Amino acid sequence: MGKRLSPTRVPKRRLAATRPVISRTVPLPSSPPSAVYAVPKQTAAYAFFSLSEVVLYHFLEACSLSTLIALSHTSAYFRTLVKSLFRIRLTQIMEHFITHTNLASFFTLLHETDSAIGGSTVARVLTGGNWMPSNLNLYVRNGGVPKWEEYLNTVLYFRCEKQPEVDRGCLYATSSHTAFESAITGHVIMISESVDESIITPAVSSSNTLAMSVITSSTIVAMYPTLMNKRQAFDSWDRPTVAHCITLQKRGFKHSASTTSWTRRCEWNCPVLWRRVQNLRGVGMFCWGGLNNNFPDNGREGIPFSDVSLKWRLSDVCLNEYCPWSSRRWV
Ligand SMILES: [Zn+2]
Repeated sequence: MGKRLSPTRVPKRRLAATRPVISRTVPLPSSPPSAVYAVPKQTAAYAFFSLSEVVLYHFLEACSLSTLIALSHTSAYFRTLVKSLFRIRLTQIMEHFITHTNLASFFTLLHETDSAIGGSTVARVLTGGNWMPSNLNLYVRNGGVPKWEEYLNTVLYFRCEKQPEVDRGCLYATSSHTAFESAITGHVIMISESVDESIITPAVSSSNTLAMSVITSSTIVAMYPTLMNKRQAFDSWDRPTVAHCITLQKRGFKHSASTTSWTRRCEWNCPVLWRRVQNLRGVGMFCWGGLNNNFPDNGREGIPFSDVSLKWRLSDVCLNEYCPWSSRRWV
């Protein structure tokens, strides 16, 4: 039999001397580390920074939305990477509908007309995946359709003969819904015209919370960011069709019409809670920088609701027993 090994006995005094000493007189940093700081060599962080950016992009592609946002706050380097990831995902989808050479003019018009991209495109940009939106949704201000029609004709999209029916929930939020079909690919771009000057009005009247997010020329806005992060869609007043629910499930999203099965407080996601956008409370916002990354991170340019006095809610009943606004708590 071999000799039994026993752990090396270290004298107590010596062990204490090797422990890291934390001086309680040194104040903790009150602000996050600066954007550019030296990473000491021979550390895991140094090895991570020396990986090629392609590997990093694969790493980011596998991250959840909340992880990406957290990473973007750690340093200017990661913020740039996350912005690039969102830009790559958005460009992939846009090139499905608009040719690469026309992308710049598309985003220029998006900026000039204060319009926004909505629908499933935003969910695809924020959560990734291998699916492609079936059509491209645009929200435009009241009276903004002629300018877009003129542009879409130049890129060979023409008004469809059969126009879509307006959802019941959108009747009070939109003036018109116009479908344009590509003469080359047959893809469809849908324009929803707001009843007022804000593109947020038609966005929050969508049939579920996933579709309530928008992308402007510089900013991504998620009205229910925690639900988006959990890949969860909650029904609004105008329930989605069965076919729409199946599509959501195929794309990896959970779908719910009630808060009965929720096991935590609803907080900002409570369907009975009246929501507003003026102070950005509960609203997720990320400045993606625009197609050429020339918009500032902290600017107000391209934010579509700074002057919107609009409130909405998803339902008049909450059945989550953990929620203070739930009707089940009073039974
Ligand atoms: Zn609730």
